[in-house]
Amino acid sequence: MLKVENLSFTYNSKNTDATILSNIDFTISKGEHVSIMGESGSGKSTLLKLIYGEYDLTEGHIFWDDTEILGPKYNLVVGYDFMKYVAQEFDLMPFITVEENIGKYLSNFFPKEKKERVAELLEVVELTSLAKTKVKTLSGGQKQRVALARALAKQPEIILLDEPFSHIDNFQKQSLRRSVFNYLKQNNISCVVATHDSEDVLAFADKMIVLHDSKIIANQSPQELYKNPRIPLIASFFGEFNLINDQVVYAHQLQMVEKSDLKVIVNRNYFCGHYYLISAHTEYDIIFFENRTALEENSEVFLEVVQQ
Ligand code: ADP
Ligand code: MG
Repeated sequence: MLKVENLSFTYNSKNTDATILSNIDFTISKGEHVSIMGESGSGKSTLLKLIYGEYDLTEGHIFWDDTEILGPKYNLVVGYDFMKYVAQEFDLMPFITVEENIGKYLSNFFPKEKKERVAELLEVVELTSLAKTKVKTLSGGQKQRVALARALAKQPEIILLDEPFSHIDNFQKQSLRRSVFNYLKQNNISCVVATHDSEDVLAFADKMIVLHDSKIIANQSPQELYKNPRIPLIASFFGEFNLINDQVVYAHQLQMVEKSDLKVIVNRNYFCGHYYLISAHTEYDIIFFENRTALEENSEVFLEVVQQ
């Protein structure tokens, strides 16, 4: 189990105004999958690096079971065998092949096992066809997948992933996400993913930790946060929304009706595949709602909140 206790961190300890993280407390059980979410600059990457032991904490403690994770001041070699970390900027060996990179830390005394293991990992990250390709010729997204496979090679107990799919195009992202996260669950590997992309999270995370103003402002399941997002920042992870009487109302929770108290004028239709997102306005506000068909601009329609 990962335990983060009362963690605070400032990059330059002389400048205490620049606190990046303060009073951070949470636990992650074995096999649990947790997402760290928050705006750009909210400290997601910093938190992962602290868990990995890359910096010394300003305050607090981090434990994996009974082992305290120590920063460079107390630990000669950063990192532990039970934990792997894939940074936002992954560093691979450019002049050797994909399979050589993935197998780099696997023992050569077991050539058959090594070969099988590398083949299995190539499948998880969907790179089998590029096994013999030199890494320097790969795209950013392909390199990201090699880095993922290399981190998994010596089965860690916990893996830290920083924006793991950020360089991968949408076409491959969906199936790769399923493949990687299913692999982690099947092998009971705890996983901490820093991301600003809620698609990395909603279907996969057991818990979402939301960082804001250097603090944790939420630590719940995606389902719980979706039902009760409390604040616009959290609601924004689940799609377009409105604030009506200080309540979050998702765009899909507004439905057109014959007559209601909420009269709006249509501004614009945005095609979204099986529905249109429609922006409209009242006297005071812009309102977003969804409809199966496009609506005439400047037409007047009535909306009602439906619970879904
Ligand atoms: P996120 O990953 O959520 O975008 P980061 O953890 O990268 O956020 O950064 C959090 C804050 O810490 C930002 O304000 C960033 O400018 C600052 N920061 C990040 N790395 C360093 C560093 N090595 N030295 C000083 N400040 C840093
Ligand atoms: Mg980051």
